[in-house]
Amino acid sequence: MSAVNIHPAVDGGVKPGSANFSGGTLKCLCASDPVVVEIKSQTAHNHVCGCTKCWKPSGATFSQVAVVGRDALSVTSGANKLSVVDPSAAIQRHACSGCGAHMYGRIEDTGHPFHGLDFVHTELSDQSGWSAPEFAAFCSSIIESGVNPEKMDGIRARLRELGLEPYDCLSPPLMDAIATHVAKTNGVLETA
Ligand SMILES: [Zn+2]
Ligand SMILES: [Zn+2]
Repeated sequence: MSAVNIHPAVDGGVKPGSANFSGGTLKCLCASDPVVVEIKSQTAHNHVCGCTKCWKPSGATFSQVAVVGRDALSVTSGANKLSVVDPSAAIQRHACSGCGAHMYGRIEDTGHPFHGLDFVHTELSDQSGWSAPEFAAFCSSIIESGVNPEKMDGIRARLRELGLEPYDCLSPPLMDAIATHVAKTNGVLETA
């Protein structure tokens, strides 16, 4: 039976986050003059993601991605190396032009349900204690990256074994948050 590679950060088992962890530094993969991003808070909603847009290391089937408040994130070195992968996307992914790593994804649309949050890959940090991945999002989308559909049962079984419940969109709490935002915006739900 061949091993299923999900992501290097979870393949050996999901490591718990640290309760009193309050942030750290992300560095891109460039050997010299790396882009450095400072984060002054713990991350939230960490998960592995099967979509085709998130950055992932070579050989990984899923990315690993979490969020932080945009006010807690700043680029402290190498900002000149960053460029937006797809300016038309809802999430503006700022990638290093040298190594390709996505340093942060930012939502500029103030009407977007997740406006105010930046998306980050904490595997780019040397520190441990970042919040642990909690679920697997957009699992079916890995087929769009070339994964044989026949492998999906085995991949979902491995995710459950790791404690990462597989979903084909976001997790129910996040899908509920998006729908609540839309309902309030459309005036069909009371805001208080
Ligand atoms: Zn994704
Ligand atoms: Zn780089």
